[in-house]
Amino acid sequence: MFSTLVDFFREQIFTLKEGSYPFWLMYRGYVSPLGSLLHARMLRKAKEQFPKGHRKLTTTTYSGVVVTIVSFAYDNYAYIVRKNMDVNQCLIVDCGDGEIIIDILKEFQWDPIAVLTTHKHWDHCYGNAALKVAYPNACFIGGKVDRPSICTRLVSDGEELDLAGILIKVHEVFGHTLGHVVYEINQATTSTDPPIIFTGDTIFVAGIGKTFEGTNEQMVASLDQFKNKFCLGTILFPGHEYARDGLGMANYLNPNHDTVYKAFQKVDAEYLQRIPSVPTTLGDEFTWNPFLRTSQLTDGAVTLISSFLQDCGEKRVCMSGKDNVRRES
Ligand SMILES: [Zn+2]
Repeated sequence: MFSTLVDFFREQIFTLKEGSYPFWLMYRGYVSPLGSLLHARMLRKAKEQFPKGHRKLTTTTYSGVVVTIVSFAYDNYAYIVRKNMDVNQCLIVDCGDGEIIIDILKEFQWDPIAVLTTHKHWDHCYGNAALKVAYPNACFIGGKVDRPSICTRLVSDGEELDLAGILIKVHEVFGHTLGHVVYEINQATTSTDPPIIFTGDTIFVAGIGKTFEGTNEQMVASLDQFKNKFCLGTILFPGHEYARDGLGMANYLNPNHDTVYKAFQKVDAEYLQRIPSVPTTLGDEFTWNPFLRTSQLTDGAVTLISSFLQDCGEKRVCMSGKDNVRRES
């Protein structure tokens, strides 16, 4: 009975129209402690399907820092960041699953100095409680408006942090929630190294987060921040793996754009090999992300996107689906 109720609840939150009373009711429940039960159950079910994560654990050096990409649940990403390959001190970004992160930390004997959370949704902070027990000295950092679970170091726009030898800058990008922040790392070792941003549920590969709390105008203003503040090479690490659906939609909107089509083909092939599609770059997102290039689209496409913003859920980035993707002729 309880399981049925939880599944019903979870389905409703992603399908009800924002702004409606039923949506508001369901959403308030989701962000309450009750929602953590729902998330815990979802994690258990996802582990039956993906016991080692939905994508392969991947560690690569980007712009002067080492980032380990950790997949969990059905499509979430958390990240472990170190100054270089030789150090044990690390930062965690968006720990939605404490168990999987703690297993990795213990396996590699990494020591988390701080846990950064982009926003309050449970799939980004549920694991903070378990991490706090395992690593009581770690600093838990989140936006001052959202106040994600366990976070006691609350930050706001423009704040700079120096943690584990890594320089971090906070940017407020409201829309998905009213307190969503992203974390910029600017640890360039050469003058050409671009910054890195952990974007949470603001920008995905070829998509954006649903405006659960904010308005579309707030989300557009947040996206404009990316346009105005950062270079095209900026490396983006999103909070979810939605690339195949997102690029499917981008291809549907731009059926004659070879770069978009090739990008879709690439993630489609990598999907079966469980290779993460992340990170992406701001330049690539300007090429294919419909929400960053509305001025270049036809009126029909803009109407389609507008209706997406109104009616579709975060998990339904692609209305068109694979069936509408242009095939090789
Ligand atoms: Zn979210």
